Amino acid sequence: MKNYDVIVIGSGSGALISDEAANRGKKTALIDKGPLIGGTCLNWGCIPSKQLIYPADRIVEIEEAGKFGISAAVEDVDFGAIMERMRRSRRESQKHLRRGMKSVKNLTLYEGEARFAGDYTLEVNGERLRGGQIFIATGSRPLVPPVPGLEGVDYLTNESALELEELPESLIIVGGGYIAVEYGHFFAAMGTAVTILEMADRLVLAEEPEIAELLKKKLGERLTVRTGAGAEAVEVGRDGVTVVTRDRKTGRRRRYTAQRLMMAVGRRSNADLLGVEKAGVKLDERGFIRTNARLETSVPNVFAVGDANGRQMFTHMANREAAIAAHNALHGTHLKVDYNTVPHAVYSHPQIAAVGLREDEAAARHDIVVGRTNYYDVAKGEAMLEAEGFAKVILDKKTGKLLGFHVIGPYAPVLIQEVVNAMTSGGGADELNQGIHIHPALSELIPVTVNSAGE
Ligand SMILES: Cc1cc2nc3c(=O)[nH]c(=O)nc-3n(C[C@H](O)[C@H](O)[C@H](O)COP(=O)(O)OP(=O)(O)OC[C@H]3O[C@@H](n4cnc5c(N)ncnc54)[C@H](O)[C@@H]3O)c2cc1C
Repeated sequence: MKNYDVIVIGSGSGALISDEAANRGKKTALIDKGPLIGGTCLNWGCIPSKQLIYPADRIVEIEEAGKFGISAAVEDVDFGAIMERMRRSRRESQKHLRRGMKSVKNLTLYEGEARFAGDYTLEVNGERLRGGQIFIATGSRPLVPPVPGLEGVDYLTNESALELEELPESLIIVGGGYIAVEYGHFFAAMGTAVTILEMADRLVLAEEPEIAELLKKKLGERLTVRTGAGAEAVEVGRDGVTVVTRDRKTGRRRRYTAQRLMMAVGRRSNADLLGVEKAGVKLDERGFIRTNARLETSVPNVFAVGDANGRQMFTHMANREAAIAAHNALHGTHLKVDYNTVPHAVYSHPQIAAVGLREDEAAARHDIVVGRTNYYDVAKGEAMLEAEGFAKVILDKKTGKLLGFHVIGPYAPVLIQEVVNAMTSGGGADELNQGIHIHPALSELIPVTVNSAGE
């Protein structure tokens, strides 16, 4: 048995905790099952997907240039080069990470799958490690529903899609969340005939319905989008993979066939791989690890952060939780994470970003006023001929406090940041109006939208 002050399982956001602990002189072990270290965001999530989507955005811009009187066409897309650039970047970051971890004093990296063997005890590669404090940062993995026939299909996920050498001629994506629409946009721009099949009545369920509607319309100009279409069975034939769907409302069955299939219906907890029950760590009804406000699990001195606790599954939140859990554990504090002002983005085309509550959520708890402005109504949006993008604000009627802000259109993830900053500092409409906004700039969309509330 080896004894450590701190054991961290998972090297995504977990690496922030192991660094902090080791730098404070704690004897620390970091465990990751690999095959790559650094977690989902770096290897299979945010970073590789955005490296792929950036060139996809450029392609769509060229295709849309006609509206400015520019005739331009994409002559050729080197799919192999785009994929290889992403994989090269991943190889390089592996080298940097390993070198960096080796140089941290007090830190030992174990590459292997960890399982709890008892209270405060883990087993990895046949060795037993005991930790005074344990941090579970084991993330999540693709959720693959038990659709009949799927077991016989070589389907893609967000992980295996990154290994593609050749562009599929056609692709069915089952799922309509942000991973599905981001990859739908990417493959369509590369030249694949993409079909998205979503069981719910709309795409991106976390977003405002009118944003989901516009996204469906815009994506529908470049790919086939079917909502209300639950995948009932999958078959393999000479022409590729066929997905049989059943319409939610009419019950009508339809068949869609493509060369390849990608499953992107959501994420599931990795807690089952860890055998948490052996340590008495409790799970919620979805299988994610239950934590209290200071991010401690049902067992004292065992903390869970990031996707492992299933609260807000974004890298910026995993990192924030990692910082707060590390502080609470190492200093005995009771710091809490503010979950009211968590922004997120969807890098589809058009882009989406949001923070705070949707209108339906806000209306259930507050007396609200709502405002909406089109990009076209601010000078820069008009210059860009951005005809359909818009922003929407939800304010508390009495106090003018910002409850939610939603944007669909160019640079939405950048535009939302000033709203996040205002909300985080407890601000409202007044704070957003106080700062002078450059004219003409897209950022004018924010105060104009706020001032339109209640008009
Ligand atoms: C396609 C895709 C795109 C995404 N895009 C974005 C984005 O643009 N912006 C954003 O904010 N978020 C994005 N996300 C979400 C983001 O990647 C995750 O929220 C984030 O990586 C979670 O970090 P984490 O530290 O909780 O877990 P991870 O980063 O997943 O780290 C968990 C680590 O634990 C290891 N592990 C698991 N079980 C064990 C075990 N039993 N023993 C040892 N090691 C184990 C894994 O190998 C992994 O390295 C995306 C996700 C996907 C899938």
